[in-house]
Amino acid sequence: QSKSNGQNQYCFFTPDMNEEVFKKLLLESDLQKAMKEGQFQLYYQPQVSVAEGEVKGYEALLRWEHPERGLVSPGDFIPLAEETGLIVPLGRWVLEEACRQMMVWRNEGSTVSRMSVNISAIQFQQPDFAQVVKHVLAQTELPPEYLELEITESIVQEPEQAVPIMKEIREMGVKISLDDFGTGYSSLSYLKDFPLNTLKIDKSFVDNMEHGSREKAIVDAIINMAHRLEFNVIAEGIENEAQLQLLSGEACEEYQGYYYSPPLPSSDIESKSSFPPL
Ligand code: C2E
Ligand code: MG
Ligand code: MG
Ligand code: MG
Repeated sequence: QSKSNGQNQYCFFTPDMNEEVFKKLLLESDLQKAMKEGQFQLYYQPQVSVAEGEVKGYEALLRWEHPERGLVSPGDFIPLAEETGLIVPLGRWVLEEACRQMMVWRNEGSTVSRMSVNISAIQFQQPDFAQVVKHVLAQTELPPEYLELEITESIVQEPEQAVPIMKEIREMGVKISLDDFGTGYSSLSYLKDFPLNTLKIDKSFVDNMEHGSREKAIVDAIINMAHRLEFNVIAEGIENEAQLQLLSGEACEEYQGYYYSPPLPSSDIESKSSFPPL
C-alpha cells in the first residue's frame, strides 16, 4: 500500500490488478460466509418434450442471494468456487438439495421423472465422487433413475480417469448428460467411449439455426450423430416460437429455454405444475 504511492515502478500490482485481487478476496470470503449462512438457493428450469410440450425433467441451477448485491448468477461465482475448492462442498449441497426437492415433488404426485444437476469437473475428479452420489441418494431416498448428472467437455481432459467413474455412476442407475456440447474441448474421438444418456446442444448452435441453412445443417448433424450413438438430445436456450418450429422439424427429443420457462424457484414450479390432487 505505502509503496504504491509515488513509487509505482516498485509496485508488483497495477492499480487495476490490485482492485481485481481485492474484489476476488472479498468475493472469496463472501462465498465462504454464504455457505455457512445459507444464502444459496436452487432454481429449476423445465426440460420439455418437443413433440408434446410435456415437462420431462428439471435442471437445477444455483443462485446466490447476496445480502448487498442481490441475486448473483453462477457465471460470476462458480469459477472462483472452483479455483478455491469451495465447489466441492457447495456442489454436494446442490446435489442434496436437488434430490431432496425431487423427492418432495415425487411424493406430491408429480409425473416429472428427472432432476438434472450440473457437476463441475473439479467435483467429478474427487476420488470419492461416486461415493458421494451414492450417499446422497441413500440419504434422500431418491431412486437413482430420477437423477441425471450434467457434465461438460472439460472432463475430457482426463478421459482415462473419467470413463470408469462415469461407468460406475451409470451402474448405480444414475443418468449422465453432456452439457454445452460443441463449445468446449471438442473431440469426437471420446464420444464413443462416454456412457452418456443425453447430449445437450449448446444455445449458440440453436441461436444460429435461424440464420441459415449451413447452421441448420450443423444442428442436423449433431442430432443424427447423437442418435446413432443412442443418446437423447436436448436443445438449450430456445427463446422463441420460430426456434421451436425449426426444432420440431428435427428429431430432437427435448428442449429448454425462456420460451417455455426461465429457471424458477421451487414454489413457482409448484404453482405452475398440474400435480394431480392427492
Ligand atoms: P448450463 O448448465 O448450460 O445452464 C444453462 C444456462 O442457460 C442457465 O444459466 C440458464 O438460466 C440459461 N438459459 C436457459 N434458457 C435460456 C434461454 O432461453 N436464453 C438464455 N439467454 N439463457 C437461458 P445460469 O443459471 O446463469 O447458469 C450458467 C451456468 O452456470 C450453467 O450453464 C452451468 O454451467 C453453471 N451452473 C449453474 N448451476 C450450477 C451448479 O449447481 N453447479 C455447477 N457446477 N455449475 C452450475
Ligand atoms: Mg447444465
Ligand atoms: Mg448448457
Ligand atoms: Mg452453459
